[in-house]
Amino acid sequence: MGYVVTIDGPAASGKSSVSRELASRMGWKWLSTGAFYRGLAYVANEEGVPLEDEEALVKLSQSPIWSIAMQPERTEVIYRDQKVTDEVAKDQVGLWASRVSALPKVRTSLLKNQRDCEKNSHGLVAEGRDCGSVVFPQALLKVYLTADQVQRATRRAQDLGMSVEETTVSQRIRDHQDSTRKSAPLQVPEHAWVVDTTHLTLAQAVAMIEKRIRESMKE
Ligand code: C5P
Repeated sequence: MGYVVTIDGPAASGKSSVSRELASRMGWKWLSTGAFYRGLAYVANEEGVPLEDEEALVKLSQSPIWSIAMQPERTEVIYRDQKVTDEVAKDQVGLWASRVSALPKVRTSLLKNQRDCEKNSHGLVAEGRDCGSVVFPQALLKVYLTADQVQRATRRAQDLGMSVEETTVSQRIRDHQDSTRKSAPLQVPEHAWVVDTTHLTLAQAVAMIEKRIRESMKE
């Protein structure tokens, strides 16, 4: 088995940018596990499957009509032979993803797909909400990224071309849903290293974590 490093944290804490850059520096694969929940929510909406129909969502989660592909720059979502990665990145799809991700059977169903991403790789950086606590509990290093709410909403607004007010509202809803759900809630995994990125640049956060990964590999 290769090395796994997990980066968890709330919406827009910098997980994607930090983990993507880390994977590139280490020469490892990169996985944004949110793509599974966003992809499923998007496909459900397209296929007319209600977001609360757990059994139908479980079935859809294993359907061959959609898949995930790990690329160095993005975790692509492919639906009926089309890349829909830009569509699934939208704020609305994030809110739908948060709803489907609260369903325990959906989480269990997608767990194997996420774990399979580690196979045949020398190393993997995986980011999400429960990567360190549930998906890859054996990870070499578990990081939990945080940043203050205003900073996170501002970052997300810039990324999506939305107003800070709009992103603040959807972020609050998502963080609340993700932290209070019964199944694998967003939490600091045991033994995780908490890194607050509020006053850190991307380069600083990446350099700190890369140093720690390389130290852990020597232990
Ligand atoms: O990280 P991202 O914004 O793409 O995640 C979208 C949603 O998917 C999150 O708000 C969360 O509800 C869900 N998610 C999850 N567990 C993960 C990754 C994402 O529940 N490991």
